[in-house]
Amino acid sequence: MIQGNRGIRRRRRRARGVDLDRIMMKRALDLARSAAAQGEVPVGAVVHRDGEIIAEAANTRENGADPVGHAELLALQLAGRVLGRWRLTDCTLVVTLEPCAMCAGALVNARIGRLVWGADDPKAGSCRSLYEIPADPRLNHRPPMVGGVHAAVSASLLRSFFQARRRKKKPC
Ligand SMILES: [Zn+2]
Repeated sequence: MIQGNRGIRRRRRRARGVDLDRIMMKRALDLARSAAAQGEVPVGAVVHRDGEIIAEAANTRENGADPVGHAELLALQLAGRVLGRWRLTDCTLVVTLEPCAMCAGALVNARIGRLVWGADDPKAGSCRSLYEIPADPRLNHRPPMVGGVHAAVSASLLRSFFQARRRKKKPC
């Protein structure tokens, strides 16, 4: 009986977690859309703690002329500043695209509590596609990861962005 109740509670907690992932991903997708409107590759990221948004960012590589201006890296830096610490073990990072090697490394360094991403990135993704940096047992931190949340929306944003950019580049 007690175990049964616990099971129900655990399932409820899981359901809330999944809903929260979707809610936070929707916010990250909004950030990605606004990045696209400014000519940036549409990727957005949110750092939250139990649903409270601590920091959010979108790609700024083009407009900031910043080689490391990836959404998740910027969101991590901002979260550290907001919380006044570099360890983010109680936070979840939600990003619209599977993090690259640089960002996956930063997530491990930040001791992020959990990682959620949208679309897989077969060209640079380093959490499942090319490498599995946050799951590497040789590293000292391995956060739980969930990929594929609202993946189709994120992938279609990226696809339309690159299609439009190719069209613009074509000489008339
Ligand atoms: Zn990155």
